[in-house]
Amino acid sequence: MIQTDICIIGAGPVGLFAVFEAGLLKMRCHLIDALLQVGGQLSEIYPQKPIYDIPGSPGITAQDHIQQLLLQIEPFKPTYTLGERVQEVEKLSDGSFQICTNENTKVHAKVLVIAGGLGSFEPRKPVVENLEMFENGKGISYMIKDVETYRDKDIIIAGGGDSALDWTIHLKDIAKSVTLIHRSESFRGAPDSAHKI
Ligand SMILES: Cc1cc2nc3c(=O)[nH]c(=O)nc-3n(C[C@H](O)[C@H](O)[C@H](O)COP(=O)(O)OP(=O)(O)OC[C@H]3O[C@@H](n4cnc5c(N)ncnc54)[C@H](O)[C@@H]3O)c2cc1C
Repeated sequence: MIQTDICIIGAGPVGLFAVFEAGLLKMRCHLIDALLQVGGQLSEIYPQKPIYDIPGSPGITAQDHIQQLLLQIEPFKPTYTLGERVQEVEKLSDGSFQICTNENTKVHAKVLVIAGGLGSFEPRKPVVENLEMFENGKGISYMIKDVETYRDKDIIIAGGGDSALDWTIHLKDIAKSVTLIHRSESFRGAPDSAHKI
């Protein structure tokens, strides 16, 4: 059984920064994440995308932002269980928590922080026949890990939210051509991005 002051479910940016705030209160943290690496959506879905809306930072890639957060929390020496999903949380009679993962790792903590973001995520796929024939490097991707994969290629982006708009703007200088397909006449993403497009 792992003993800690605070157990944080989710090692995305919110979970990581919680370690810093807890550290100021002299509380030790143990983080659990279903992914094999820390960083949440930033490291898993868009590590190379630039982010422009972090206060005090005019522009930084998602992965560099996570590296900065890791540097910031290093003095507080958090511990991690990665690649395991929290399945069960039990509140004990003294008010503390026992947390159990799908691999049966058990953590006992005085405080539980849930920083699970969108949950342990999977892509929402469109209902299109034979989609799986083009997955796994054969043309269709649900996230962009390495922009170089798209250099000098003709690409089609489907969607109209922030993700689709951000990647359209970013990939226009890398790909040979970018075509954005959206089912509605207006975009759901930030108006500034829609204006740029
Ligand atoms: C393509 C894209 C571009 C974006 N660009 C920007 C941007 O430019 N600027 C901006 O401010 N925001 C942006 N966002 C949004 C931003 O990524 C999220 O707001 C941010 O990741 C939320 O952080 P979080 O720590 O709350 O959650 P997440 O990053 O979602 O992390 C939550 C973590 O919890 C883990 N988890 C959940 N449930 C469990 C469980 N039961 N057991 C174990 N682990 C669990 C997940 O595996 C995950 O790693 C973008 C999002 C996407 C998809």
